[in-house]
Amino acid sequence: MKRISILGSTGSIGTQTLEVVRNNNDIKVSALAAGSSIKKLEEQIREFSPEVVAVWDDDKAKELKVLVSDMPVRIVSGMDGLIEAATIPDADIVVTAIVGMIGIRPTIAAMEAGKDIALANKETLVTAGHIIMPLAKKCGVKILPVDSEHSAIFQSLNGEHGNEIEKILLTASGGPFRGRTVEQMKEIKVEDALKHPNWAMGRKITIDSSTMANKGLEVIEAKWLFDVDVDKVQVVVQPQSIIHSMVQFTDGAVIAQLGTPDMKIPIQYALYYPERRHLPDDRLDFFALKSITFEAPDMVNFPALRLAYEAGRTGGSLPTVFNAANEWAVAKFLDRKIGYLDIAALIEEAMANHKLIASPNVEEILMTEASTYEFLENR
Ligand code: NDP
Repeated sequence: MKRISILGSTGSIGTQTLEVVRNNNDIKVSALAAGSSIKKLEEQIREFSPEVVAVWDDDKAKELKVLVSDMPVRIVSGMDGLIEAATIPDADIVVTAIVGMIGIRPTIAAMEAGKDIALANKETLVTAGHIIMPLAKKCGVKILPVDSEHSAIFQSLNGEHGNEIEKILLTASGGPFRGRTVEQMKEIKVEDALKHPNWAMGRKITIDSSTMANKGLEVIEAKWLFDVDVDKVQVVVQPQSIIHSMVQFTDGAVIAQLGTPDMKIPIQYALYYPERRHLPDDRLDFFALKSITFEAPDMVNFPALRLAYEAGRTGGSLPTVFNAANEWAVAKFLDRKIGYLDIAALIEEAMANHKLIASPNVEEILMTEASTYEFLENR
């Protein structure tokens, strides 16, 4: 029996993780956590009977307590609650499917409590990879990637222990605006950017995919997960989202993982690694697909990717600035307060304004996040 805690259970990854739980009869949900979606949480509590449920918002936590007063579940709130859900003694694996840097502290707490991490929350690795990766080693816990590209790289590395990676070929769909120039993207509205050609995901990551900021975050995530320089991570645009990523070895051989664009595959793989379980969904049909095409990424019209490479190369606190400025700008764009092209422009401005901290601790990472927000609010 596997016992899991899901942080961000009401979101896109969280609900798909629960689908995986539903399809198997040997996973027990020990804890759940979400921001404020208490109606969804109530349904999840009634279906999966977790011991502990964390709600970020205090008032919503109180409301949820009333809604589920007939159930044997403990409702907790705030950061302490999130950490309690992440460290619940009953669980052996924590799925980090929260969005944003809020995931750093609970991920660290879970590792210190000896839990393996099924990591979707890439922002944690991007900003605190220099803390997370050594800590995982020290605590003897696994970091199992849930992001489809990183799961593909992880799978391509199976059995290759000790063999040198020449290059990681990180695939990208290119998003809904692939092929457009900056001039042609001036008038993009929230609705346009929320339409991803292949994947159904949360709102923030969907916008990030359209600007290529998501691919930039993934480049930095790959650097930490697979211990390579960012310049060894080559983004390859592959619009059909069939090849999930590849690894090129020192003899020139390339190993890839392919599949339908279905997040349940990497989620289930992370939960059961190294075992593969049956999934009833669609299979790849190569004859219907006919072709898979490739392009180089366009870093001129999609500057967020170029900025992410710059942040990843420099390291220290700069990836935090990249990430925080992006989170701030995407929220403002979704709120219709800024234009689409402002997202990358604001990231660039915030990065240019930053005074680098070479190896920030968690407090300094969170301070960098706060000072980036402050800079953007007051500029
Ligand atoms: P969603 O926006 O769909 O879901 C986010 C989840 O986090 C929700 O459950 C939300 O709760 C919860 N949450 C937000 N803030 C807090 C908080 N302060 N405390 C506790 N819970 C909180 O995001 P996604 O599922 O799309 O993405 C989650 C993470 O996974 C991101 O880091 C993303 O980059 C990564 N990822 C996502 C992929 C995808 O296909 N969606 C693919 C690969 C990686 P509530 O509903 O109450 O707001």
